[in-house]
Amino acid sequence: MIAEKLAEIRARIARAAERAGRRASDVELIAVSKVKPASDILEAYAAGQRLFGESYVQEFQRKRPELGDLSDAKFHLIGKLQSNKTRVAAGLFDAVQTVASEKIARRLNDQTETPLDVFLEVKLSDEEAKGGVAPEQLCPLVDYVQGCTNLRLRGLMTMPPWSQDPEVARPYFRRLRELAEQHGLRELSMGMTNDFETAIEEGATCVRVGTAIFGKRPKPA
Ligand SMILES: *Cc1c(COP(=O)(O)O)cnc(C)c1O
Repeated sequence: MIAEKLAEIRARIARAAERAGRRASDVELIAVSKVKPASDILEAYAAGQRLFGESYVQEFQRKRPELGDLSDAKFHLIGKLQSNKTRVAAGLFDAVQTVASEKIARRLNDQTETPLDVFLEVKLSDEEAKGGVAPEQLCPLVDYVQGCTNLRLRGLMTMPPWSQDPEVARPYFRRLRELAEQHGLRELSMGMTNDFETAIEEGATCVRVGTAIFGKRPKPA
């Protein structure tokens, strides 16, 4: 089942990239396995998937031992990181995509034992629940993170307001690309189950797809 879904998503990524005149190999698929059992991750791994996204530090900390070695798999934190979990997160994840403050960047830089990849999360909508740095505050944060010797700044990440209609997200994706260009950053983590093809048309280099691969998640209580 998961293998079939992955094949389907990879084909859709390839078609969207082709439409946009881009190479499919320039778009990485992050399989978002938050709240899904370790067995689902292993099934996706067996189907060739190597890059995974998780949202909750403690939930992944519990699941990680069940995955065994899996030394060539990579795990990105795509959910909010609280400052009291930076040390655990730095040890557990290959990248943190949700850095949005100097405080979190400083703690990760001080606490990581190996160089850590990071993305800065940018808040482009004014929804209360969304995290991220405001576009006006991005410049000093980019400078700060570029000065952190243990952090490698890869690019920007965003989450537009959810909508059934992927066209609603398009201006947000475009805005993120403009911001990345202004700051000389190459990678754009944007696009989810509902809008990843639009994100690819707008330049996404990582799309984060959960539901279309692993099925619906239970609603948080
Ligand atoms: C859950 C989540 C996703 C995946 O969402 P789907 O709609 O299930 O594909 C992507 N990005 C972030 C930040 C998420 O929290």
